[in-house]
Order: sequence, then structure tokens, then C-alpha cells
Amino acid sequence: MVLKVLGSSSSGNCYILDNGKEALAIECGVSLSKVKDAVDYDISRIAGALVSHEHNDHCGHVREFLSARIPVYMSGGTASAKGVSGANILLCLKKTDIGGFSVLPFDVRHDASEPMGFLIRHEETGDILFATDTYYLRYRFRGLSTMMIECNYDRSILNDNVSGGSLHPSVRNRIIRSHMSLDTCIDTILANDTSCMMRIILIHLSSGNIDSSDAVGKVFKASGIETFAASPGMDIPINRTPF
Ligand SMILES: [Zn+2]
Ligand SMILES: [Zn+2]
Repeated sequence: MVLKVLGSSSSGNCYILDNGKEALAIECGVSLSKVKDAVDYDISRIAGALVSHEHNDHCGHVREFLSARIPVYMSGGTASAKGVSGANILLCLKKTDIGGFSVLPFDVRHDASEPMGFLIRHEETGDILFATDTYYLRYRFRGLSTMMIECNYDRSILNDNVSGGSLHPSVRNRIIRSHMSLDTCIDTILANDTSCMMRIILIHLSSGNIDSSDAVGKVFKASGIETFAASPGMDIPINRTPF
């Protein structure tokens, strides 16, 4: 299985887990043409698309996905906030099977109607945690193979941007109340069972408010686990074993 990163920031989010036979899209924040490109124009192999919440960088292209008859999954709060009909409604902590993928949604903390994170399991990948746009994670997980976790900003860079005048204090305050800092990201990783974890993928980095290579270095130093910062065009092999 390969994780294809099509977008991972406030300008648009989408990831595709794809083994060439079946695929799962995570987020509908980039155009369907980019998704088609990523799956060699075989969209029939996309078993479904998950959406974490209604903000446009995650949900802005959802109608294109629905028009292409890709089954879309989101919370009831997300569907009504976005005015979407025809999506499959997910309930927190209720598992759903999507092709060979099993998805357990859970609630996260963000300035959105009913935002969700997802625990995604496939026999080729083991358990993948996906958590973005959340300033905090209340759940702990055991036996994860992969963490895809938001690492939005570095508090000291954010404060420097405010004192330098490039960021309004009200924007900083909104970021702090809705997105995950590097420090919280590291604490969250270490609060989980990392004994089987093979990779950490930092997602939704805010380019002006964090230094991605510094973040990768700090997460690796704290966890000892191979760490990536997601950026468009990246393909990351996601297999249960390294072989
Ligand atoms: Zn976002
Ligand atoms: Zn958001």
C-alpha cells in the first residue's frame, strides 16, 4: 500500500491509500482531476472518500467526488454544515467497512460542526491513525503502525510572527484554539503506544508558522520513529512489515 499525498495544508488536503487494486481517499480538498491522476484514471477502484470536517481545505471538492459516484463518508454535522446530501453518515466510535478498509471515526477538537479523526485498518497496513485540525486528542491508541497527525505550528514562530507584525493576534488565538502545535503533537505521539509504530507522517503544516525540517527532526528525536512531513507529490509506502 502506498500513501499518496495530493495536498496537506490550508490550501487543500487529500491523501490516497492505494494498493493498485483498491484505494481509500482521505479528505476531498483537492480537485477530482488530481485524484484521477493519482489512481491512473481508474476511479472505480476508490472504495470511498473520508471527510474530517466541513472546512473547504478538507471538503471543498466533495460535490465532484459525489458526482463521480465515489462513496463519501462524513459526520452528520459535517454534512449539514456543508449542505451535502448523498454522503454516508458516520457515527463516532462506530466502525464502518469501506472495501477492504475498516474505519473507526472518533471526535476531535476543532472550530467545526462535528469534526472527526479516523482509525483506518487494512490487512496490508495495520492500524493507521489520521488526526488533523484538532488542538488536542482525547483518545489513546494501541498497536498503531502509522500515525498521520497534524503538526500545524511552532508556538515560538507563531509568537515571533505576531510580534513582527505578519500575523494578527486574533489569528494566532484562533490557530491555538483549533490546530495542533509541534509540542502537543510530540506529547500526543508519546502518549500513545509506539511499540509497533513504523512511521509518523506530520500533516497540515502551516508553512509560515513552522519549519518542517526542524519539526521532523524534533519528532524523530523524541520518538525514535521514522518521520515525514507530508507535502504534495509524496508517495510513502505503508506496509505492516518493512519487507
Ligand atoms: Zn484544515
Ligand atoms: Zn479546519
